[in-house]
Amino acid sequence: MLDRRLTGSAAPQPRHRSTGRLLIVAHLLVVALSGFALVSTHARWVWVVGALASGTSLFALTGLVHEASHRHLARHRGFNDALGMLAGWPLLTPVSAYRAFHNAHHQATNDEGDPNEPLNSRWMLIFGSPVYVTLIHRHALKTLRGRPLVHYLAETLAMIATLAAVLSLLPHAIRERGFLVPLVITALWQNLRIVSEHLDLPSGRFHDTWQLALPTPLSRWLLHYDHHLEHHLRPGLRWHELPMYRAEIHRGGFIPTPHQVTPLQFTRAVFCRRRPTTTPTPPTSAIPTPKWAGRAAIRARPRQPNHPTRESVV
Ligand SMILES: [Zn+2]
Repeated sequence: MLDRRLTGSAAPQPRHRSTGRLLIVAHLLVVALSGFALVSTHARWVWVVGALASGTSLFALTGLVHEASHRHLARHRGFNDALGMLAGWPLLTPVSAYRAFHNAHHQATNDEGDPNEPLNSRWMLIFGSPVYVTLIHRHALKTLRGRPLVHYLAETLAMIATLAAVLSLLPHAIRERGFLVPLVITALWQNLRIVSEHLDLPSGRFHDTWQLALPTPLSRWLLHYDHHLEHHLRPGLRWHELPMYRAEIHRGGFIPTPHQVTPLQFTRAVFCRRRPTTTPTPPTSAIPTPKWAGRAAIRARPRQPNHPTRESVV
């Protein structure tokens, strides 16, 4: 039986939405304050702490291009895409190209035709970010035609012009210490995200994604990037709704909790090549639709898996 708070009409969505917005403001503040600290001091420890804080917040903010690709950032399409551009451009990712790439990934996760396929390599821990950006642009050039292609090309030109203007106008101390150094930390986080989503998971296993479990405060601070399984099950849910959905499917026993892995278990399973054990899990169709989430989530049903059973490493 599902929790009434999650299924009833008094679902706590507005509170979660405003908490989500506050977190975005908090990340913007961290980037601004860390940038100021990085530029105004020569103490090494301030550089390290400032770059880590700013780079981590930039990582969370640039991840919002994903939300924009699902049109979750704002009701108005133009405004949603403008926010997506702000989020994606620092990592050379036009939202129009990301949307095409990411939709194809949702359609064929870990299967033939998944444009993410080249990312399923341990080398992505080092080269993930540049490879990801290259794949996104290559996919856009290969698959987009007509108006979407014109849209992508126009956005890419605007992105290049804006970044060139920003980088040339900023004083070099702000450009290098306040922006480029934190971006290196952001790229490292991005590499971690890339390998911890689908690496070593054949189609169908674990419902195609790892089910990472980070400590709650860290998960919240990183805008729940570790809730990738829930996102793949219901791409129509916004990032701040994913923990409620995780609680719901776990409470209902639809996904056995042993499928959740801590970062350490994930590292052992992937990098120490621990032999997996086999346990059956229910078909994706048995997992409930969150009634509190509205029509978008219900419409955005995931594709059906190819395999009737899944494996667990735990
Ligand atoms: Zn998605």
